[in-house]
Amino acid sequence: MSHLSIVDELSNFIYREFHSFRASEISRRCFSFEQFSEIFLKISNHDALRIIPVGESTEGRPLRLVKIGSGNTKVFSWSQMHGDESTATLALLDIMRFFAGNTRFETLRVELLEKLTIYILPMVNPDGAERFSRENINGIDLNRDALNLAEIESKILQKTFEVIKPDFVFNLHDQDPRYSIGIANRQAAISFLAPPFNETREINANRSRAMKLIAGMKLTLEHFIPEHIGKYSDEYEATAFGDRFQELGAATILIESGGWRGDPEKQFVRQLNVIAILSAFVIIARNAVESFSADDYNSIPFIEKKLFDLLLRKVGVNLGDGIKDVDIGINCYEKHLPILELSANIEAIGDLSGYSGLEELDCTGCHADRMLEKGDAANIVIMKNGGVFAIIENGRLKM
Ligand SMILES: [Zn+2]
Repeated sequence: MSHLSIVDELSNFIYREFHSFRASEISRRCFSFEQFSEIFLKISNHDALRIIPVGESTEGRPLRLVKIGSGNTKVFSWSQMHGDESTATLALLDIMRFFAGNTRFETLRVELLEKLTIYILPMVNPDGAERFSRENINGIDLNRDALNLAEIESKILQKTFEVIKPDFVFNLHDQDPRYSIGIANRQAAISFLAPPFNETREINANRSRAMKLIAGMKLTLEHFIPEHIGKYSDEYEATAFGDRFQELGAATILIESGGWRGDPEKQFVRQLNVIAILSAFVIIARNAVESFSADDYNSIPFIEKKLFDLLLRKVGVNLGDGIKDVDIGINCYEKHLPILELSANIEAIGDLSGYSGLEELDCTGCHADRMLEKGDAANIVIMKNGGVFAIIENGRLKM
């Protein structure tokens, strides 16, 4: 069977059947360690899955590795080393349930369990996850701690990697949903990267394997999100774990969950993760990695940050030297303190014709009710012909 038919057959199958193994208890981005733990333990309580305790976070939350299968090729996936990047944690729970599932996928499951040993370490930063913050409880970005290994969670990740000695690793993150691909209004749903292992971004056999596997995953996802697949910045970051593990000899794949219009909780993006990762497992298990092309990887366009949450087109604004017609780009931010707090700022004012908005409003013939500058809170009343045309309240459009 050709590599194309492998991904064709499989991706459609997983897409269709996703609902039957999805860990449906959680369907939001923000969830507590307790909520995660309860489902994690419930799913892990199955003969196919073995829990290996690997340590505790700074605040004493357990980090648990799951081992599935007994094959010769070892794959290691971890998620949420940035506490507010939870999409792939849910995808990993779904994948665990796929392996702990009913007889529906028996043939595929048996094949994967025989060929692969799959290690999963979901929620590497549970203290950060509890606060929905990027950093750990000490305010450290764990993905800049791969060389210092100053934090407990970083030490655990490094140690786990050293003990497993994986052939392939999947480093799972969320990226800003305001990244786009090619044209400004085409949102990046998923980004991939085979991280470099040195400044010159050399390609060795190892990195080449990662690139080819990504090419296979890209073909898989193209069925569902054509043209919404991007490549993450390939600047070398010595202190990041992906770059480090690539250097240490595991073919390393970064997956960034982006955004999708109408999917604020990223549940479709979660499903895309499951399709991509399970397809990758099958490609690896069938020794098909080398049948994909690094050129295909290289042709994936880099993502660019050209989207705003809200873009007001052609608003008359007094910028201090008279009224001019300008575009206004607005972004909304969430903080969990632990209560959700939303803030919205004017990010850019000027000619934003090269940019796009997840939501846009044409304000031709309108003007703002006050002077505005970059950095202002996004509370604006837009006037037209002496009446109110639109109200922007904390970045949200109220007509
Ligand atoms: Zn991240």
